[in-house]
Amino acid sequence: MNLNVPGTEPASPICSAKGCRADAVWVLAWNNPKLHTPERRKTWLACEEHREHLSKFLGVRGFLKDVVKLDEWEAPEEQG
Ligand SMILES: [Zn+2]
Repeated sequence: MNLNVPGTEPASPICSAKGCRADAVWVLAWNNPKLHTPERRKTWLACEEHREHLSKFLGVRGFLKDVVKLDEWEAPEEQG
C-alpha cells in the first residue's frame, strides 16, 4: 500500500478497502509474523463501514494487533 501516490495525494487519508474512497476513520495495525519482526507494524486505514470487514480479515489470520482511531494514531517511524 502506498499512500503517497505522486500527483494524487489526497487531502485526507482514505480507506484501504478495495474500491472504497471514503475518508479513513480507523487505523488497523497488523503484523505478519512470517514476514515481519514482532515489533514491526503495518497499517491499513478503514472507514466506519469497512473497519469490521478489514479487522476480521486480519483477525482470522492472527495478524491484527491494534485498532485505533485515526486521530489518536501516532504513526511509528516506519511506514508502509
Ligand atoms: Zn471503506
